[in-house]
Amino acid sequence: MRICRFRFGRKHGTHSSMKSASHLALTAFAITVATATAAFAGPSDGTLDFYWIDSMGGGSTLIVTPLGESILIDSGNPGDRDPSRIHRVATTVAGLKQIDHLITTHLHLDHFGGAAELAQKMPIHTVYDNGVPERDPDGGNNAAWPLKIKAYREMKVSKRIVVHPGSGIPLNQVQSGPALSLQFVAAKQQFALSRTVSVDPARCADPSPKPTDTSDNANSIVSLLQFGRFRYFNGGDLSWNTEAQLVCPIAQIGSVDVYQVNHHGLDVSSNPLLLRALLPNVAVMNNGPAKGCMTEVVQSLRSLPSLQAIYQVHRNLKQPENNAPAEFCANNGETGGAHLKLSVSPDGISYTVTVPSTGHKQTYATRF
Ligand SMILES: [Zn+2]
Repeated sequence: MRICRFRFGRKHGTHSSMKSASHLALTAFAITVATATAAFAGPSDGTLDFYWIDSMGGGSTLIVTPLGESILIDSGNPGDRDPSRIHRVATTVAGLKQIDHLITTHLHLDHFGGAAELAQKMPIHTVYDNGVPERDPDGGNNAAWPLKIKAYREMKVSKRIVVHPGSGIPLNQVQSGPALSLQFVAAKQQFALSRTVSVDPARCADPSPKPTDTSDNANSIVSLLQFGRFRYFNGGDLSWNTEAQLVCPIAQIGSVDVYQVNHHGLDVSSNPLLLRALLPNVAVMNNGPAKGCMTEVVQSLRSLPSLQAIYQVHRNLKQPENNAPAEFCANNGETGGAHLKLSVSPDGISYTVTVPSTGHKQTYATRF
């Protein structure tokens, strides 16, 4: 297996071979899978796969575990476009027959809007969210809220769970393989507090605090997915001040390999305090052609000593200087529909990012 270290598309690093270790792990995996549960809808290929599906600046990340168990984090916008794109990737690319777990990070249309239509296209088993409130979680007296949430509230699913920080999804494990877990580290601005590493107060000073966010963005469910040494962060549209509370004065997460850029790369999120705590190697932005990928966020990411690459679902057509090289962007024009893929190896010690539309493929070493 060839592993390169990239920094914003420029190769500058080491190669190493892990072929024999990978071969042993694959052999062990093959034996295990033969006796593993066949209860889940997807194929079992040994890798942990991520698909960032294009919802034109919405949230829509599909994860398929080594045993074929599926997790969709957010369901894009309402209307046929996004549910159809999710359904296409889930069925024809990932080989799924159902979504086992749907996490709705918060109740904004670009995150929950596609769920009801998707539920008509393929079964959704369990939904995890912050609960469905009677009134608009953005506050105020929005008379349109009951109609806006009706389809999501009434969609047919097998089970609904209100997330509590510290809980998680009890994912099925590959015997003899790396441990796989998904923990909800925050929800509704409450934190799991399962990790209590104090941070030097001097490092917690926010150089540019922003006004209190009273929208539901601040309530986003934060998920930390781990597969052996590999760690992935998804914070939905978590915003600036809550991001700071997540890592200061107590560091509640630690560093990660892959950071899904909060809030599509809008500059009311991705507080540098959070980024310096996460220290990702790879950032993935589910942005749109005219949404997200903003200058302040991109500069903060590029300043991280750990960062090797930024991937984008869309090229930013308004501020081209913010873009990663074209081969790192799934969609380089006004329209879209192309996805990004990341596969973590069965042993969890490396992961490969693929951009099928550009032919880009790069393998990274898991750091920890
Ligand atoms: Zn959003």
